[in-house]
Amino acid sequence: MKHLKIEQNCPRIGVFDFTGCEGCALQLANKEETLGAFLDAIEVVNFREVSSAARQDYDVALIDGAITRPDEVERIKAIREQATLLVAMGSCACFGGVNRQKNAYDLDAANREVYGDCPKETMPTMSVKEVVPVDLEIPGCPVNKDEIERVVQHLVWGLPLPSYAFPVCLQCKQRYTICRFDMGESCLGPITRAGCNAPCPAGGLGCWGCRGPAEAPNYDEFFALCKERGFTRQEIVDRLSFFGGFDISPSTDPWPDVNAVANEMEV
Ligand code: SF4
Ligand code: SF4
Ligand code: SF4
Repeated sequence: MKHLKIEQNCPRIGVFDFTGCEGCALQLANKEETLGAFLDAIEVVNFREVSSAARQDYDVALIDGAITRPDEVERIKAIREQATLLVAMGSCACFGGVNRQKNAYDLDAANREVYGDCPKETMPTMSVKEVVPVDLEIPGCPVNKDEIERVVQHLVWGLPLPSYAFPVCLQCKQRYTICRFDMGESCLGPITRAGCNAPCPAGGLGCWGCRGPAEAPNYDEFFALCKERGFTRQEIVDRLSFFGGFDISPSTDPWPDVNAVANEMEV
């Protein structure tokens, strides 16, 4: 368990949006039944979506969104300098999120295709930790408000932070959901980090891995299962690539087993 502490009883929090849909930032203002207590525990000093305050004396910076423009690189560096704790919030901030899919394309050509004669400034998508050090990551698309509340409580009280080492399957089974594999569909639940309470399988969709890899995922078993159930390598790679949490590019190292095993699957 990670152990972080902020000194103030009522920490000053800034929420900053980068490239994303801002759904993660909006989650902070969600869940009315606990919103009052949540806001009593913190002081919001900079949060464009909910307050006109724009102070720069925050202790904790919550970052929503990925880094996809040069000006965002400079902005996140300045925020890092000010913040005692910097938290990447959501799949975009943690992994690049759906924005990372653009890295598979020629950005100049895509820019011309979409914006014609008025191209926009852009660059390959990066997660926040690819630009500045990050103290804590809370993945999800969007983040789960319960999890944010737990993290803030633990930070304020200096308690060890809860972590979800186990995969989504465990929470899925706790809900008595019929396995999507038994319905003839694929699902990344066996290798994806839990904490979301498995809403997608319960709602009729396989997991798409928005929380990134579980601790020590068993890729061998997972790919063997997918192959046995008749899924193609491309189907599984498409799923793994969707939120950017599973690094499947041949030149990167964090998840080399994914390449090794995925390449053995028939396309
Ligand atoms: S992680 Fe999802 S909900 Fe959050 S900003 Fe990105 S796209 Fe929006
Ligand atoms: S539906 Fe997905 S998450 Fe649920 S048990 Fe099956 S593989 Fe695991
Ligand atoms: S089930 Fe999978 S895709 Fe759905 S919220 Fe959980 S981790 Fe994300």
